[in-house]
This record gives sequence, structure tokens and C-alpha cells, in this order.
Amino acid sequence: MGEVQRYSQLSDIVGLCKRRGFIFQSSEIYGGLNSCWDYGPLGSQLKKNIKDLWWKEMTNRLDVVGIDASILMHPTTWKASGHIDEFTDPLVDCKKCKTRFREDHAPIKDGVKHCPECDSTELTDIRNFNLMFKTNMGPVEGEGSTVFLRPETAQGIFVNFGNVQETTRKKLPFGIAQIGKSFRNEITPGNFTFRTREFEQMEMQYFVTPGEDEKWYDYWKRTRYSFYIDTLGINRENLQWEEHGPDALAHYAKAAVDVNYKFPFGWGELEGVHNRGNYDLSQHQEFSGKKLEYFDEVSKEKYVPFVIETAVGADRLALAVICDGFVQETNIKENSDGSKSEDTRNVFRVNPLIAPYKVAILPLSKKEPLQELAHKLYTDLNSDMAVDYDVAGSIGKRYRRQDEVGTPFCVTVDFDSLEDEKVTVRHRDYMTQQRVSIERLDEFLKEGLKAFDEFGG
Ligand code: ATP
Repeated sequence: MGEVQRYSQLSDIVGLCKRRGFIFQSSEIYGGLNSCWDYGPLGSQLKKNIKDLWWKEMTNRLDVVGIDASILMHPTTWKASGHIDEFTDPLVDCKKCKTRFREDHAPIKDGVKHCPECDSTELTDIRNFNLMFKTNMGPVEGEGSTVFLRPETAQGIFVNFGNVQETTRKKLPFGIAQIGKSFRNEITPGNFTFRTREFEQMEMQYFVTPGEDEKWYDYWKRTRYSFYIDTLGINRENLQWEEHGPDALAHYAKAAVDVNYKFPFGWGELEGVHNRGNYDLSQHQEFSGKKLEYFDEVSKEKYVPFVIETAVGADRLALAVICDGFVQETNIKENSDGSKSEDTRNVFRVNPLIAPYKVAILPLSKKEPLQELAHKLYTDLNSDMAVDYDVAGSIGKRYRRQDEVGTPFCVTVDFDSLEDEKVTVRHRDYMTQQRVSIERLDEFLKEGLKAFDEFGG
């Protein structure tokens, strides 16, 4: 593999995502809507694969089950959770250029906060701005009809603790996982899909016996880190842990650590692992008047469990995967006259587990016998893996198109294939080619996808 360069500018990533059909601006034909983005054919498949992988890792174990709770919840939920009183950001305006921003994000010089736009120090007093979106339920607007779009998926899990525990008869420790949309009226959204007002979260609340919380907090910290390094294969140097000091802890947390990723604009939070104590269940118990206790059959005691939370944004993780995988690679190629020249290609070095397409079928010619065979291969493989089919342009161009969207294998069907019943399989990263019999193709590709790095070298 040649010399590799990551994209250092977010604008290049935004351009690439649009050009290759990963992410478009929402309502673009109307000029777009600030901070809202639409996932195109490849982006939606990539994000779905990420969510499926997370869901599988979380729920393919006996101690974690999944739920799918509604976005609109009883308004008292948010009083109990602390979101109505505490889920605020400190908002200030610059008196000079009128920019509005989060006071805690403002640059500090000589101990004084400055406007991030014009550098002025003349700022208004801080006002606390609640980040929850409000709407009305039913045809009559008014106090009694106000509901909120959930700002996190976690509360749907807490209010269902009793239902899930009773129906599954799970014993502590056990977890409940959920994937779903959340909404926050962020003061300063931005950096592409990193901070938006509508986003998807993948959260898991793990209920434990009080006193065992620190052990499980450490366990989930290790498990989640391994998800990024071992399962997803994110570059280690682009990940770091940041433990929150006592001043930076949220109102509910006993301990918290962030997994941060090195985006082109700097380090940013991907996931939080939190020890929430028994705050949430106790609050809901108090506000609802319903017991949310667990009866421990061993100690014969009743208590409110403690909770370890793991919370990651699907959109942020998709962005991290994109920033981590999109590279420009320069190879030295030998020309027919023996001279050497540089050849640069764009490659999306994404883990095959989450690549939008696993394989592309490329018939060398549009002629009927080849197309017929290629179509048959497409249909045969399609039931086992996501397959693309491309007949347009030179084979070199088609390889480049597939490289850029991260397709691990290209299968070229040529005229020899009609005779020897073999096809050429090309590896995305090593660009090596192997002749493989059509009979063995499905098995070969499956093995290759499992051990991709070792396969083409
Ligand atoms: P931040 O400090 O970046 O605002 P947070 O600490 O408030 O994030 P959590 O409430 O812990 O975030 O949410 C869990 C995860 O949800 C975050 O790690 C992030 O991946 C994702 N997330 C939170 N807010 C947004 C947002 N506005 N846009 C996209 N993803 C988000």
C-alpha cells in the first residue's frame, strides 16, 4: 500500500460525502436548513450498518435486552430527570457583532472571555437556555398540551425498567439498550454532522447492585474502548479517554469518562460512559409514586439499582468512521517504458463489516453473454451480502469509484470467464487480483470479508 494522507479539512470531507452520495444538506433545493442533514444511498447504508453492529454487540448477550420507546413522553418525565431545570446551556450575545454563542465555548485570553467571531470582550450577561424542543399534543395549544421531543433516549429506558425486569425476569446485573432519535435545540450546532439539533443516539443502561457500580463502570469503559479499536478498527492514535473531574460532572453523575475522537476540527466527544448512581430511578420513583425497586432474591433485600450508562451518537460515530477511513493514497507505478510515476487515488478504508457495499460486480463489456453471467452472479450473491453492479466507464474508473465508497472487493467478469468459469477478484486496499472459480466465489468473498487485512497482501 502506498503513502496515505488523511483529509485535514472538514470541507473536503463534506464535499466528498456529497459527491459520493453519503450525506446531503437537508432541504437543499430550498437553501438548506441549518444543522440538518440527509443521508443519501451510501450514507444511510453506512449508518444502518453501524447501528446494526452496535445493536448486535449490545444485545447478543444474555444480560442485555433491547427496547424501542417513543420520542414523546409524559412531560413529568423531564421534570423528574432534571431536564426542565438543568438541561440548559449558558447563552451570551456579543454586544458588538451580535453573534450568539455558548459562554462555555468562548475563547479565553488573559482570563477574559472573548467573542469567537470578532474577539470583542463586550458580552451580555449569561442567560440559561433550555435545550429541549417543545411542541403541542392534540389540537388545543396551551400549558396542559406542552410536550417535549426527547433530548436523550435514556429516559425511555428508565421509565420502562419495571416493565422490562418483570417481563424478562432478568436478574441484576442486566442492561437495556435502545437506538433512536433525540433532539436538542443546540445554541451553536456545526462541524457538519458532529453537532446537530436532530440526531440519533445508541444508549445502554446497565442496572447493577449498589456497591458493584465501580467494577461495572470499569468493565464498560474497557468494553466500549475495545468496540472502537478491535471491532471497528478505528486508528488508535485518533482515540483518547477523558475522565471528567468533579467540576465537569453532569447533575446526575458519580463518575464519567468520554471517548474522544480526533476530528479534522480537533478532539470531540464520541461516547460517554457514566456512573449515574441511582439518581434516575429514584427520581422517577418519587415523581410517579410507583416503586422502581429490585428484589434481590439472594440478600432478600429491596433496593433501587445503580446505573452504568454508555451513550454514543450514531451520526458522530458515522462521521468519525468517515474521517478515519477516507484517505488519499499515493502509489508509485511503473509505466510501459520502464519509467516510474506517482498515482493518487481516493480510498475509503472502512471496515468491511460496515462498508455500504461488500462487493461490486463489474462486467468488462456490455455485451449480452457477459452481462447475463454478471447479472446471475449479482443475484446469487445479493441474498448474502450488499452488492453493487456497475457497467459504466473503463474498468479503471469503476475500480476508483468503488475504492472511494469503500467496497472491499470488486469482481470483474471478462470473456475468459465464459470459458474457464472464473472471475477476477480485486482487493480494495492491496489492489491485488486473484482468479477465483465462480463455484467458490460466495465462500471466497465471505472468508475474505472476515479476514480482510490478511487476505490480499
Ligand atoms: P456534548 O458535550 O458534545 O454536547 P453531551 O456530553 O451533552 O455532548 P451526551 O448527553 O452524553 O452528550 O450524549 C451522548 C452522545 O450523543 C454524545 O457523546 C454524542 O455522540 C451524541 N450527541 C449529543 N449531542 C449531540 C448533537 N447535538 N449532535 C450529534 N450528536 C450528539
